[in-house]
Amino acid sequence: MRVARGYATTGQVAIGPAFLAVRTAAGDHCPVMTPDPEGELTRLDEAVARSRDQLDHILLEVAGHAPQEQLQILKTHVLLLRDRRWEERPRTLIPDKGYSAEMAIRQTTLELISRLQGSDDPYLKQRTIDIEQVAGRILRNLGGEHGFDLAQVPDGAILVAHDLAPSEIIRMQPRKVAGIITDLGGPTSHMAIMARSMEIPALVGTENATQTIQSGEIVILDGRRGSAIATPNPSTLRYFRREQRREQAEERALTTLRDLPATTPDGVEIRLLANLELTREVRRMAGYGVKEVGLYRTEYLFTDTTPPGEEEHYRAYEKLLRGCAPHPVTIRTVDLGTDKSAPILDVELEKNPALGFRGIRCCLAHRELFVPQIRALLRASVLGHLRILLPMVTSAGEVIETRKLIAAIAVELSEENIPHAEEVEVGAMIEVPSAALTCDHIARASDFLSIGTNDLVQYLMAADRTNEHVTYLTDPLQPAVLRVIREVVRRANRHGVEVEVCGEMGGNPLYVPLLIGLGVRVLSMSLPKIPHVKQVIRAVPAADARRLATALLRMDDSARIRDRLERFCQEHLPEAFTAPAAPEISLRAQ
Ligand code: PEP
Ligand code: MG
Repeated sequence: MRVARGYATTGQVAIGPAFLAVRTAAGDHCPVMTPDPEGELTRLDEAVARSRDQLDHILLEVAGHAPQEQLQILKTHVLLLRDRRWEERPRTLIPDKGYSAEMAIRQTTLELISRLQGSDDPYLKQRTIDIEQVAGRILRNLGGEHGFDLAQVPDGAILVAHDLAPSEIIRMQPRKVAGIITDLGGPTSHMAIMARSMEIPALVGTENATQTIQSGEIVILDGRRGSAIATPNPSTLRYFRREQRREQAEERALTTLRDLPATTPDGVEIRLLANLELTREVRRMAGYGVKEVGLYRTEYLFTDTTPPGEEEHYRAYEKLLRGCAPHPVTIRTVDLGTDKSAPILDVELEKNPALGFRGIRCCLAHRELFVPQIRALLRASVLGHLRILLPMVTSAGEVIETRKLIAAIAVELSEENIPHAEEVEVGAMIEVPSAALTCDHIARASDFLSIGTNDLVQYLMAADRTNEHVTYLTDPLQPAVLRVIREVVRRANRHGVEVEVCGEMGGNPLYVPLLIGLGVRVLSMSLPKIPHVKQVIRAVPAADARRLATALLRMDDSARIRDRLERFCQEHLPEAFTAPAAPEISLRAQ
């Protein structure tokens, strides 16, 4: 029994055999295990031989004129590749462990590097980069055509990978894959958000799951405690199977809340809206008793190598607006950059992409991407109640400039006799400190505000939301975050502008009393979170939530804030917040 720890995207338990996948040099995934060891040995031999030929050839070609330093590096690579270990070790791993050639090379690389890192010789230590480069060449020569469609992960398996792009998760079948475990990622990374909205239990940021877990062994993904238990002993397995049955019964019981209002016991009404990643989710909204879309992220229309045209945009928005009419649908203009993949963006690789050309700045500069989106939005506006939301706003000026552009496009459409609504509400995301500090200016230029806590926390705390090493900082319970939310809500209220919370914080039942206490009255979240959040709203009087928020705002430490908040929630709703004790053994790394 071995344990890996990480950040769970849902509180659920998932159990299944592990299916490990490793990235090929082309960036696709391929299974770690092979059903055809003989075939893999042939691929490996060919790739190693091809790599040697290539390096010998390059060395011959440049020997006369390349600078000494470069020649030395090339010679080191040639020597490294002649080392028999590149053949011997993978040739054992493939038949003995059943590894694919890619996995065998990755494992050999790790072993060679860890041996060098253990050495006292600084020269040898520095050779790790050469080893990685040689391994990269062999992997490239193994070819990208070996790439594997993640939709083929076996039924009931738990996929274990170093990292996954949101566009790869979309390809997976929610009811087929039991869960996902990754080495990288934080709880608000887009990988986690996508898994949550696809209702696939996930554990991200484990750092070493691909090293701890082996393909084929049974794994328990324990969403409540944020851990994965590989090859559990029989009593642990029995305990978690019982937990799973209990959770399923709870989920069924929660469906009885579907048509009940999200109103606190003392009569404060909270509007619950849906965060959608994919247009097909609109069909699932009625099942959760939710009518409005608070955030549709349009990034997933941009996952191809060519940008979507006006018609493609229009078809997506048409589906949403018709599906929800007459209720509001908030569509966010595209927020490309950082971990939201953007193969079409022909911008140079930036050193600091989170602080670079993303969100509304990128759209205002790339009109060729933005104008078709705005035209499609305005055309679709006659089909229902559209609200346009602008991402990564840093100042009121960006909202004003975008509104001018929207108005100019509306005039163009009128000239072309294309119907569009006379007025479309335009809102701004509050997700960077400058926007929070000037939210009164932004409120004057906007029809509504939406707090994106995922980015707000990242930028406020100067901690990358995708980096598992700083997750203790990307904590929405940091005192700075509480203060900023309170200020934004106060100022927006003063300007009579509605403010909602659409980041992951708004969909976490634990944070709901705090947000209500801070004055938030509109929460937008992924569909599966709706019943859990509604359950809390119906159990916690707003007056108690206000007193709680006042007390928490005085505290200076996020761990103590969490502790107090957990106790408050346990008192008001013990059945939802008291984690049943797990068998002691399951929580110890073995
Ligand atoms: C946010 O930052 O909270 C948000 C909702 O936007 P995204 O997660 O897409 O960056
Ligand atoms: Mg954001």
